[in-house]
Amino acid sequence: MLEKLVYQVQLKNLFEDYEGKFPMMESSVPTAADFYKSLPKVELHRHLEGSLRVPTMMEIVRAHDLDVKNTGYLRPLVQVDHEEPYTFENFLSKFGTLRLFYKSPDIIKRITREAVEDAALDNIRYLELRFTPVALSRAEGFPMAQVVDWVIESVREASAKYGVFVRLIASINRHESIAQAQKVLEIALERKDKGIVGVDLAGNEAEFSAEPFQELFSIARKQGLRITIHAGEWGGAENVRQAIEYFGAERIGHGIRVMEDPATVALARERGTVFEVCVTSNHHSGVVEHLSDHPIKQMLREGLNVTINTDDPSISRIDLSMEYQTVTEVLDLPNELLKERVLAAARASFLSPDICRRLAAKISDEFNELLSQGN
Ligand SMILES: [Zn+2]
Repeated sequence: MLEKLVYQVQLKNLFEDYEGKFPMMESSVPTAADFYKSLPKVELHRHLEGSLRVPTMMEIVRAHDLDVKNTGYLRPLVQVDHEEPYTFENFLSKFGTLRLFYKSPDIIKRITREAVEDAALDNIRYLELRFTPVALSRAEGFPMAQVVDWVIESVREASAKYGVFVRLIASINRHESIAQAQKVLEIALERKDKGIVGVDLAGNEAEFSAEPFQELFSIARKQGLRITIHAGEWGGAENVRQAIEYFGAERIGHGIRVMEDPATVALARERGTVFEVCVTSNHHSGVVEHLSDHPIKQMLREGLNVTINTDDPSISRIDLSMEYQTVTEVLDLPNELLKERVLAAARASFLSPDICRRLAAKISDEFNELLSQGN
């Protein structure tokens, strides 16, 4: 209670200072949302294919005569709506529509650039953007290696233009073939020095096993790519154990169902496994029926290394600031936790240990400066 009160006073002072700095905004009253926006952030789990801006999609609809009449018709196809069933089938169905948009090299470069710009606008300092080469290349039959190069090139340009540090993770879907996965892996390995730092196993966890991909991920790890696996989202704790023990996953995408098995919780704690938790996404895809019942608090209480992420900001109509706000206000976690979790994310990045340390130090300084303005 006292902490909350101190925080509110700090927040008030911070906003007074904020208004002083930006006299043009005198008429607008800063909100709590402005505070979350102002925080420096790190995002480890964001899919490019779940980050398309709706106005950009509408432009593509018109330019390519796609069968969608207006934004009102488009939104339910690509974003989760309050009226819809919150199920993984419904959530995954959005990606089916999104695949229709990857019409040209320019579009793929544009959506990449805009994803980086949106991260910068949300004060994300470091972004690990994951993308699915099979999805981006398949609809128009583009060579996968070229598609990956377009994404790399666009990230490099946008990163410099918008001042946000970005690295890439290549995602492989477990509901696609091993042959496709192998190709993605080869392409990623050839571009290790061009910004691809890791590989991810994503896709339909409810109906497809990760097991056939184990050998490929072992090769990736031995050749220097870092590993993150979607597990314990639409499958149980046994998938989290499998990812840690057999895939050498340093990080788990979601992983919240680890809480179903104390032995796997203990294993993750011992190994320092990092959980890329995405609270709103878990609600929208039906893993957590009520947002307020999300187990992030219990995970932290168990000493698990939790980070806060968006997953698919466009599909869920959120940004990372909104996720920070949800975690503190809906899930009632102390706001001091945010700094700690942002630093945990910086330390868990797939950068070299030295750059990880420098990133964490820079973010820590920035937090301290921001919060000292309230004293
Ligand atoms: Zn994901």
